[in-house]
Amino acid sequence: RVRGGALEIRDLTVGYGGAPVLHGVGFALAPGEVVALLGANGAGKTTLLRALAGLVPAASGTLTLDGDALTGLRTEDRARRGLALVPDGQSVVAELTVDENLRLGALWRHRGAARERAVADVYELFEPLARRRTSAGHQLSGGERQMLALGRALIADPVLLALDEPSLGLAPLVVAQLMGTLRDAAAQRGLTVLLAEQNVTSALSIADRGVVLDLGRVVADAPAAALAADETLRHAYLGF
Ligand code: ATP
Repeated sequence: RVRGGALEIRDLTVGYGGAPVLHGVGFALAPGEVVALLGANGAGKTTLLRALAGLVPAASGTLTLDGDALTGLRTEDRARRGLALVPDGQSVVAELTVDENLRLGALWRHRGAARERAVADVYELFEPLARRRTSAGHQLSGGERQMLALGRALIADPVLLALDEPSLGLAPLVVAQLMGTLRDAAAQRGLTVLLAEQNVTSALSIADRGVVLDLGRVVADAPAAALAADETLRHAYLGF
């Protein structure tokens, strides 16, 4: 039950203070597709996600979600169109409880009974979070924090979920659990997912396709299995 979330990125150039970081990047995500965005440190993954969310302006190029142009829209209007960004690092509010953090994600989207239902849906999806609902953000483990960041994004009921290195700093077993949860959530809700990761193996294990960036350019765009099997490409761009 895919609900949309077709993303098209065309000829996207983005820079900071005039120096381009992305040079004419283009690729597309079909509705319901899970795509890993790969590439070494500094390849431009974070910049691409930030441009998608409207946190950094595009110098040129177009971004469309289900055929509608995102370019020119403010970040909050892109969120209203169904784009949710899970930023890297500590987006969870340390002083607030799990429940309060989740509700923060639902504030602008749902009211009253709809909000309660949205919160309950996230707890159903992420049982470990339900057990921690009264714990403060700073009491959570790294894995629980990432799960909460993901839950908070999902609560806005997006069609396209973009994640920036959710595996960062997590133990391998926790990464595997998180990826499994992400895959299940995407399938259950019919989401399109763009997953920026340095953890290539984990990302490709749940992705349909992978796009590899190098120095701000797309150097590969192929099915996940083909990328994982391409030794030359792995050595050249993915570091293993
Ligand atoms: P990482 O995994 O380290 O986040 P990345 O692939 O996400 O890497 P970006 O963070 O997008 O890469 O960085 C791409 C390039 O843009 C790097 O050379 C970086 O130094 C530069 N850059 C990133 N943010 C800024 C900024 N705010 N101002 C100037 N340059 C920046």
